[in-house]
Amino acid sequence: MSKNIVLLGAGYGGISFLNTVLPHIPPDVRITVIDRLPHHTIKPEYYALASGSLNENKVKAAFPVHSQVDYIQDEIEEIQISFHKVICKQQEVRFDQLIVALGCVDNHFNVPWAEEYTESIQSFSKAMKTRAKIDNLPPASRVVIIGGGLSGVEFSSDLSEQHRELNITLLERSEEVLSTLPDRIRKYVRQYLDDHGVEVLTNVSVTMVDDKAVYYGPDRTALPYDVCVWTAGIMPNPLSNPLLAYSNADRMNRIVVKENYELPYYNDIFVVGDCASSEFAPSAQLAHIQGKQLGEYFISVWKGHEYRPEPIKLKGVLGYLGKKTGFGLVNDNILLGKVPNVIKSGVLWMHKHHMG
Ligand SMILES: Cc1cc2nc3c(=O)[nH]c(=O)nc-3n(C[C@H](O)[C@H](O)[C@H](O)COP(=O)(O)OP(=O)(O)OC[C@H]3O[C@@H](n4cnc5c(N)ncnc54)[C@H](O)[C@@H]3O)c2cc1C
Repeated sequence: MSKNIVLLGAGYGGISFLNTVLPHIPPDVRITVIDRLPHHTIKPEYYALASGSLNENKVKAAFPVHSQVDYIQDEIEEIQISFHKVICKQQEVRFDQLIVALGCVDNHFNVPWAEEYTESIQSFSKAMKTRAKIDNLPPASRVVIIGGGLSGVEFSSDLSEQHRELNITLLERSEEVLSTLPDRIRKYVRQYLDDHGVEVLTNVSVTMVDDKAVYYGPDRTALPYDVCVWTAGIMPNPLSNPLLAYSNADRMNRIVVKENYELPYYNDIFVVGDCASSEFAPSAQLAHIQGKQLGEYFISVWKGHEYRPEPIKLKGVLGYLGKKTGFGLVNDNILLGKVPNVIKSGVLWMHKHHMG
């Protein structure tokens, strides 16, 4: 009887696993991939879907085709570990081995009504909904973006380029946007945002959101908005929570896994990407490497080789500031201006065009 590997999520981690194992898959193994979308998407560009600078087709890439791989397009609702079953909206799928690569969702940090009233760029459909809301705004409306990390900065700068008629305010809890990057990058980005009319308010801690305003600070200052977008934090997809019964959580609630990405206390369930614990922050780059290493582990088992993963080395961070400029920290070198923008476009292009 053939063995069924079920892969949950065809994002960065999942597709990297798939592309690694497909040339080596034994004849008695089938892989079932479940995703709510019928294609892979370039998630780092979701901010551009929401701002309107990219057409939705530009962020889609076809799944790899293979006679031993089946794709199910469905909404995953629950992982039932002890029954070796995944419950989806329209069907149940049994697994022999399970790979969880379901990415992350917004973390609203229990800020009252933030989940209810803010828009998101964290999933394809939410980014499209955000775009529709922004497209319907009359001139001089105010868009408030909560969170000045990479996605908040990329989104606000792109939005200011696409919609000069809007007022854009970016709220950041730390002293400056991109708080984890070097001072030179932070100052460059801040200058860019100031020059392009994005109002940046720092040291601002949001305490509540309602249907008309964002409230911040000890005196609950109200900032009215027409559309408010949350980019202030992420957490692992809650569908992965049952797996914590057989592992521990790190400080970001990501699931601690063994060197081969398997749960420490349950065989044949593996986790990669934003759901898996790592010494590094979640990123597409990290998810891609983890998916590849997991693929190499499967191949080593199939071929009876020893699995010896290389230590993970990340290249750095690259960010867009609109369509022409950007910033980056690559192998400890600071890049500002056109070059990081061009490099980032090249990296994303390569990813999209080497999928199959
Ligand atoms: C705006 C933005 C900008 C970013 N920029 C960068 C960047 O510049 N560099 C970088 O390295 N990283 C960046 N990231 C982060 C990066 O996109 C993620 O870390 C990466 O995609 C994680 O890979 P993953 O495989 O864990 O999850 P994902 O790539 O998110 O894949 C998860 C998959 O699971 C599917 N899924 C989720 N829930 C369900 C469900 N219930 N039912 C069915 N299917 C489901 C989704 O459709 C998706 O295909 C950015 C993210 C955002 C939002």
